[in-house]
Amino acid sequence: MATKREYLIDLNLAKPGRGRFSRAALDALAKAESEGVVFDEPVVVGKVAAPASSDASDRKSPGFGYKPEPGGIRPVRPPQIRIRDISAMYATDADGRELMFQTCRGCGYHVSFCTCVNIGLPFGATALLDKTDPLGV
Ligand SMILES: [Zn+2]
Repeated sequence: MATKREYLIDLNLAKPGRGRFSRAALDALAKAESEGVVFDEPVVVGKVAAPASSDASDRKSPGFGYKPEPGGIRPVRPPQIRIRDISAMYATDADGRELMFQTCRGCGYHVSFCTCVNIGLPFGATALLDKTDPLGV
């Protein structure tokens, strides 16, 4: 069987191409379908069929760009746990100069939240000093 548009073109109720059907054309379609006429699906050019499974339960873990379903539950970021009550640490470089740093070079977190076994010293630092700044400094 033809598509709905091809059927209506044969009845001179529609034009080839795109556009809405007239009331008379829609009535003719309803009449034909009530008489058992089955139309072909129109061929849509330039559109990609939706993936077979767009079910939300098939999704992987939420990542960048994740948008929760309306009314859904957003994933919760794990809480940051302060490991050290300090605001800065100190190290020395090869020339003996003192370097203050606040970010672990190993994990990129602030030194008070870093959980590395050996804290990542800043670039050029050679040794960690036993000197820290308390929180609030
Ligand atoms: Zn770290």
